[in-house]
Amino acid sequence: MSTATQLIHSIPVDPLTGAISVPIYQTSTYVQEAPGVNKGYDYARSNNPTRGTLEQIIAQLEKGTTGIAFASGLAAIDAIVKLLQSGDEILAVDDIYGGAFRLFTTIYEKFGIHVNYTDTSNIENVLSSITPKTKLIWLETPTNPTLKISDIEAIAAIAKAHNCLLCVDNTFASPVLQQPIALGADIVIHSATKYLGGHSDLIAGLVITKTQELGDKLKYIQNACGAILAPFDSWLVIRGIETLHLRVKQHSNSAIEVARFLENHPAVDKVFYPGLPSHPNHSIAKKRSKYFGGIVSFTLKDDTEEAAIRFVTQTHLFKLAESLGGIKSLVSHPANMTHKSIPAEKRRAAGVSDSLIRLSVGLEDVEDLIADLELSFEKTAAVSVSTESLAFL
Ligand SMILES: *Cc1c(COP(=O)(O)O)cnc(C)c1O
Repeated sequence: MSTATQLIHSIPVDPLTGAISVPIYQTSTYVQEAPGVNKGYDYARSNNPTRGTLEQIIAQLEKGTTGIAFASGLAAIDAIVKLLQSGDEILAVDDIYGGAFRLFTTIYEKFGIHVNYTDTSNIENVLSSITPKTKLIWLETPTNPTLKISDIEAIAAIAKAHNCLLCVDNTFASPVLQQPIALGADIVIHSATKYLGGHSDLIAGLVITKTQELGDKLKYIQNACGAILAPFDSWLVIRGIETLHLRVKQHSNSAIEVARFLENHPAVDKVFYPGLPSHPNHSIAKKRSKYFGGIVSFTLKDDTEEAAIRFVTQTHLFKLAESLGGIKSLVSHPANMTHKSIPAEKRRAAGVSDSLIRLSVGLEDVEDLIADLELSFEKTAAVSVSTESLAFL
C-alpha cells in the first residue's frame, strides 16, 4: 500500500458512533467511577482523545513510537531542551530557525545550557565541533532560507558514537520528503503551523520519538509544563494531514518550475532550491526524495534591500507575510523580516544577502504564479530605471 493510502486510513473511524471524521472532545475533565477508576482519561492536560488521535497519526507518519502535540513549534523545541541538564551543550545547525536561536540564547544560556553552531551540511564541521559535553545535535534540513541540506544518516552515526541525541526539525521537508527517524534520528519536531496544518489557520507543534522511553520522558515534561495543543486545533492539524501528500507533491512540482524560471531570469543572481542541479547539496537531496519541497529563495543582480523591497511589494498572488507551507503563496524578505534581529555582517556571511527573497510556493496554478513574478520583475525594473534617470538629471 502506498504511504498516501496508509496515511489516509491511519485516521480512525470513531468506534463509538462510526463518525468518519475524528470527534472533537472539548472537555477539561472526565467523570470517574471511583477515585482513580476511569476510562484511561482523568484530566485534559494529561490526555485528550482528539489530541491522542493526532499523536498516533503523526507517530505512524514519522515512523516513531510516540507522538506528542504541543501548543506551538517553539513549545515543542522548548520541551526537548528540558531533557538536558545545566552544563550540557547543544551542537546546532548555524542557520537555525530564528525563534530556536532566541530560545537557546536568551532563555537557556542563563540556565547553563550552551549552544555551539556550525554549518552541518559539511560533516567535517560536525566532527570538529562536537565536545564531550554535547548531549544533543540539532539539525534543520533544508535550512531557512538558503535551503542547505545535511546528511541525517551520517550525522546520526556521529551522534551515536558520541552518545548524544539527534533531533531533526523536519518542518521544511515534511514526512512526505524525509523521515529522519528512519535515517537514525532520535527525535523529530515539526512546526505543524506550516505544511502539516497546511492552511495558515493555526499554530501547533509536534514531537515524535524513536523510542517509547524518550517519548515517556517528553510526555512527562509536557504534562509538568503544560504546553498542550487544544482539541479543536488538534482536529485542524488532522484535517490538514489528510491532504499532506497531495499538497506537498503539488507544492514541490510548482516550486521546481518556479526555480527554473528564476534561474533563467536576467534580473536574478542566485537561486536556492535543492531540486536544481546547481544546488551544492543536490545529490544528497536527490537521494532522499524525488520531490524537493515548496520553498525557493533567490537573490537579485541588484543586490540591495531597496530592490528586494520593491519586488516583494509588487506581487499580487504571492502575499507578503512571514510563515510558509500554506495553500496561498507567500513572499518574504528575510533581511527585514525573519532575520532582522541577526547583525547584517553575520546574516550576509550565512548567505542571506540584502536582496535575498524567499517564496513559499502555494497551490495556485503555477503559470499564474510565474506570471505574477514576471510582472513584479518588470515593475521593479521600471522603478529602478526611473530612479536612475532621476539621479542622472
Ligand atoms: C515556524 C518554525 C518553527 C516554530 O514554530 P511555531 O509553530 O511558529 O512556534 C520552528 N522551526 C521551523 C523550521 C519553523 O519554520
